[in-house]
Amino acid sequence: MHLARFPRLRLAHLPTPLEPMERLSAELGGPNLWIKRDDCTGLAGGGNKTRKLEFLMADAVERRADTVITQGATQSNHARQTAAAAAKLDLQCHLLLEDRAALPDEDYRCNGNVLLDRLHGATLHGYPGGTDMNAAMEELAGKLRDGGGKPYIVPGGGSNEIGALGYVNCALELLQQANDAGLEIAQVVHATGSTGTQAGLVTGFRGSGSGVPVLGISVRAARDAQEESVFRLAERTAEYLGVPGAVRRDHVVADSDYVGPGYGLPAPDTLAAIRLFARTEGILLHPVYTGKAAAGLIALARKGRFAADDNVVFVHTGGAQALFAYRGSFGFTDQGES
Ligand SMILES: *Cc1c(COP(=O)(O)O)cnc(C)c1O
Repeated sequence: MHLARFPRLRLAHLPTPLEPMERLSAELGGPNLWIKRDDCTGLAGGGNKTRKLEFLMADAVERRADTVITQGATQSNHARQTAAAAAKLDLQCHLLLEDRAALPDEDYRCNGNVLLDRLHGATLHGYPGGTDMNAAMEELAGKLRDGGGKPYIVPGGGSNEIGALGYVNCALELLQQANDAGLEIAQVVHATGSTGTQAGLVTGFRGSGSGVPVLGISVRAARDAQEESVFRLAERTAEYLGVPGAVRRDHVVADSDYVGPGYGLPAPDTLAAIRLFARTEGILLHPVYTGKAAAGLIALARKGRFAADDNVVFVHTGGAQALFAYRGSFGFTDQGES
């Protein structure tokens, strides 16, 4: 797999560190937990979308776009990283934000990622939950074209075969780090949503013949639906990369037991996982993506899903910036914790 054949702009701080989580591993009585710090990709506070945007923004620039359009939930980390990349590349940026979680909280509507989107100079457009966001992006693109503009649509979450190359790259980077350290990886675990991260990782691990197994903890869809969507994108990504057929349906594994009350809403085990990472490792998780993935990792470790001496790598896909939008969920007040 030769990624240098594809246009790419350097936006991320790479390689991201691979670090042991000794206190958390001891707390859980094994396995050996490691963390791949994709929360440290640098741009606008970092996160997994930056790896995808290296390839997507290169495509936009090659097509001579003057504007990028993308969509996500109100507190989208993807929107924030796209706004920052657009600012750096001198492109206009329109963010279409869908009110999926419908939280009335002022912090949710104005703080966290929304504050940062505005700082990066993006134009924000709000939509009610349930809107056809792809149609909304097309409509805005049509208007901009009519006015003589050259818009480029970045799909939600940056998840198409171009964006997924960013996570093929992450798989190759992780293999290099593991090989250098003499570390045999038994399992990779991460949060899966719009599918580009898992599709890229699986394509990278399978296309390179390493066969490292990946488990995606779903933040929204039921297991079968999530696996099907990831598989479809992995097939397209493998084709695009020149390794058609590298990924089989049974290589794609998701678990939807940690979604809790729904998309964008933390469950009690999500909040407990966020506290545990913060208090044992000094690591900040996202209130509804990496928090749910960590809840899954912790529950599976406690259930004995891994052998005590397995090396399990948790990919931290970022998102701590959204914690400030979810202050209410933690029950912290000026009196302490309620
Ligand atoms: C977008 C996102 C994910 C999920 O990645 P997908 O490629 O959309 O599946 C996980 N964690 C965080 C913090 C994210 O912002």
